[in-house]
Amino acid sequence: MTDLVSQAPRLPRVGETIHGHKFFIGFGGKGANQCVQAARMGAKTAMVCKVGKDVFGDNYIQNFKNNGISTDYVEQTGDAATGAATIIVNDTGENAIVIVAGANMLLGDAELLKMQGALSHAKVLICQLEISPDTSLKALRAAREHHVKTIFNPAPAVPDLSPEFYKLSDIFCCNESEAEILLGETVATVEDAGKVSLKLLGRGCGSVIVTLGSQGCVVLSAQDSCPKHIPTTKVTSVDTTGAGDSFIGALAFYLAYYPSLSLEELARRANVVAGLSVQKEGTQTSYPYQRDLPEELL
Ligand code: ADP
Repeated sequence: MTDLVSQAPRLPRVGETIHGHKFFIGFGGKGANQCVQAARMGAKTAMVCKVGKDVFGDNYIQNFKNNGISTDYVEQTGDAATGAATIIVNDTGENAIVIVAGANMLLGDAELLKMQGALSHAKVLICQLEISPDTSLKALRAAREHHVKTIFNPAPAVPDLSPEFYKLSDIFCCNESEAEILLGETVATVEDAGKVSLKLLGRGCGSVIVTLGSQGCVVLSAQDSCPKHIPTTKVTSVDTTGAGDSFIGALAFYLAYYPSLSLEELARRANVVAGLSVQKEGTQTSYPYQRDLPEELL
């Protein structure tokens, strides 16, 4: 997804044209963000996705390359445009967003077949819901067949998520609002997050992480009957956009390279990485590199 962001004093009314004061183009999309964060931690990564045969697609492929991500499984199609999010932000930070998934929705069986070779020597697969849910499910099933650990991020969340997603998730990682949509109940406190993590685990996940912004996260693994709160250090946050993706990218890195770490320790480390990301502006532009990490996390 390419983010096309216009900042304006206010959001325009229907039929109205107004002047904005700043425009920028950013690289976004949950899967891409997560992959970029994992790569910056030092992980060997490959992105599996589809972009359009257009300038946004070309630029995105270059962005993957600049981040050291393999583009062997990035396809370009002439049948749809690269996914784009047109975002208008007003001076008080409110926004209006139109997302056109475009080429993302054309990722399907042919690309999954091509990806099988990479899966056979992968350690972790991360999936989200910004492509067709059917394709995500098939990718998760293939990961299971190859004994590859799975992280599933149910975003953007839907209330009627197929039950198979839970069963195919070694780690099911969502934020508060995604948990609310999935379960139809309010998640505002650490206690609420503990309650929903028990319910999500009950749907068949190997383990659950519910992220809670500045409060860190709550983790629960199948071997444990009690959810644990993993608080994070207080930082001065500048821009929290994409913090959840930074968390998941870091989580995947630690899961792949330090497989003996406990779920609590994985989450504690991911909290620190995501905490660094909120101290800088932008999404991928805010994601730390290995060299930015405190020594205890290397
Ligand atoms: P999302 O970006 O999906 O809304 P969250 O807001 O829950 O996700 O943030 C994900 C993670 O980013 C948190 O678990 C935490 O580790 C970190 N984080 C987010 N906001 C802050 C903050 N204000 N201070 C410190 N860490 C934060």
